[in-house]
Amino acid sequence: MRSKLVAGNWKMHGGMVQNRDLLGAIVAGTAALHKAGFAVCVPYPYLYQAQTLLRDTHIQWGAQNVSQHDKGAYTGEVSAAMLMDFGCHYVIAGHSERRALYGEDSHTVALKFKAAQVAGLIPILCVGETLDQREAAITEKVVAEQLDTIIESVGINALAKSVLAYEPVWAIGTGKTATPGQAQEVHAFIRDRIAAHSPEVAAGLKILYGGSVKANNAEELFAMPDIDGGLIGGASLVADEFIAICRAAN
Ligand code: PEP
Repeated sequence: MRSKLVAGNWKMHGGMVQNRDLLGAIVAGTAALHKAGFAVCVPYPYLYQAQTLLRDTHIQWGAQNVSQHDKGAYTGEVSAAMLMDFGCHYVIAGHSERRALYGEDSHTVALKFKAAQVAGLIPILCVGETLDQREAAITEKVVAEQLDTIIESVGINALAKSVLAYEPVWAIGTGKTATPGQAQEVHAFIRDRIAAHSPEVAAGLKILYGGSVKANNAEELFAMPDIDGGLIGGASLVADEFIAICRAAN
């Protein structure tokens, strides 16, 4: 039986004072929730603050991106070993904003995924289609390409040590959530595709849903058999919303 995970993606939001208040509220508001796991993926400069405030709590933390390189002349980049220095547990790989705005293709995402795992991080691998792709009825083709590139590159056993997130691009930050049925359909497709390599890995792998999850839709999404929690953007910045989503997963 897979336990659920709710991970916040703060994107490029935050500040020392509001982070302290937000993290304090999340720790207190989820203290009685013992079944699901909870995490926040914060901007790099706030990793030390997250480590300081969360280290003795049940909330884990992580980053939103990582370099595929170990070290070297890569101005502005951050390595997986550096993230480990700040106690990170997770790192998001292949978020659609990284793919669309920074040109990360599935091959680059696979290298980042590998670098993260070598250092001991758990990658949260994002896959998902754009609105045009959904309307062209190629959702499965797109998601399969994103997933297969990772599996071919890292192998099915490495995939087992990650978390997947299905994030339809048209639902991210738009207020348009996939219906539970639409999300479940793609989650089941992803799990079946993985099962073709290994039924055990498919059965154990967490597949999160991301895309405008809010307090008022989390419960019905998380009730779907192949949805194992959520990757939460906007709502992870609002303590009451995020706590309510965590409660829905518990
Ligand atoms: C995300 O950024 O991963 C995300 C799901 O954003 P939102 O919840 O704001 O749609």
